[in-house]
Amino acid sequence: MTEKIHNVVIVGTGPAGLTSAIYTARANLEPIIYAGMQHGGQLTITTDVENWPGFENGILGPKLMQDMTAQAERFGTKIEYDLITKVDLEGPIKTLWAGDKEIKARTVIISTGATARTLGLEGEAELMGKGLSTCATCDGFFYRNKKVAVVGGGDSAMEEATYLAKLCSEVILIHRRDVFRASPIMLKRAQNEEKITFKVPYDTVETVADSNGLTAVKIKNLETNEVETIELDGLFYAIGHTPNSQIFKDFVDVDDHGYIKVSEFTKTKTPGVFAAGDIADPHFKQAITAAGMGCQAAIQAQHYIENLD
Ligand SMILES: Cc1cc2nc3c(=O)[nH]c(=O)nc-3n(C[C@H](O)[C@H](O)[C@H](O)COP(=O)(O)OP(=O)(O)OC[C@H]3O[C@@H](n4cnc5c(N)ncnc54)[C@H](O)[C@@H]3O)c2cc1C
Repeated sequence: MTEKIHNVVIVGTGPAGLTSAIYTARANLEPIIYAGMQHGGQLTITTDVENWPGFENGILGPKLMQDMTAQAERFGTKIEYDLITKVDLEGPIKTLWAGDKEIKARTVIISTGATARTLGLEGEAELMGKGLSTCATCDGFFYRNKKVAVVGGGDSAMEEATYLAKLCSEVILIHRRDVFRASPIMLKRAQNEEKITFKVPYDTVETVADSNGLTAVKIKNLETNEVETIELDGLFYAIGHTPNSQIFKDFVDVDDHGYIKVSEFTKTKTPGVFAAGDIADPHFKQAITAAGMGCQAAIQAQHYIENLD
């Protein structure tokens, strides 16, 4: 039996991957998309999404991803629920493996996202979207005039704290060390914000919650070992992301943090291999920007296929 060579294999079913699927399916390319561990991607672990255009009153993250999946399937996208474990992207026919299963493709769109790092405290997964967040741009609005804390000491922690200070009544920045990885200008900007107070060097040791969600956080002074409880409405982790690029590294360039480098929109250094969404975007990390890149990757894959001999 001749092995099928797919026109387009998409890795990841977040907003980037599913948008690529909708576009390539409507271009008659019969895409196949692999969902991995988290079908629907990061929005499946949140509640209200209020900044996805078209929904006056917002939409629940899982519902948005369910609808996007149905839309991709309506045009003939085939969804597989395996994790891609290995790839060989060299040459005109690319090979991907899901365990022992071999998949052949003319083009590959990588849309595997970047996972927000968490502290690993007990109960984190249940509190996500109920007082705990990894994205101030996404969730800050829910905490207008409320008291929040940000954990982290890098540029993104300063940026999130400064952003939240425009919305919230009080922002506490918790950092484990008394030196910061943040650039001096970002640190200064946060330090100049009246609403931000710094707690350093403090470790975040426990979240406190009731049936509605997070109510407080326990932090430990690393000089005195004293633990204090701060009542809060929201806690934001800003301790970085891990781009899911590991298995692709021999075939794409990545930056110091592991984000895939793209040029001319979504092209990687390997012809026929495109990257879209958070995996290739260290800056914005929003559903709408991920979907936008997914559209670009789909059209670029389509053009690549049209130009094959
Ligand atoms: C709690 C939370 C709330 C958020 N709220 C908002 C919001 O309100 N508005 C907004 O615009 N953005 C929000 N975001 C950010 C938004 O979710 C991301 O920017 C967006 O999901 C990125 O889309 P993506 O398609 O690039 O990747 P992701 O959504 O991360 O999807 C990655 C996909 O790749 C799959 N995958 C990974 N590795 C493999 C593999 N080896 N094989 C197969 N599949 C694989 C995963 O299973 C997943 O399906 C939020 C994020 C979080 C965590």
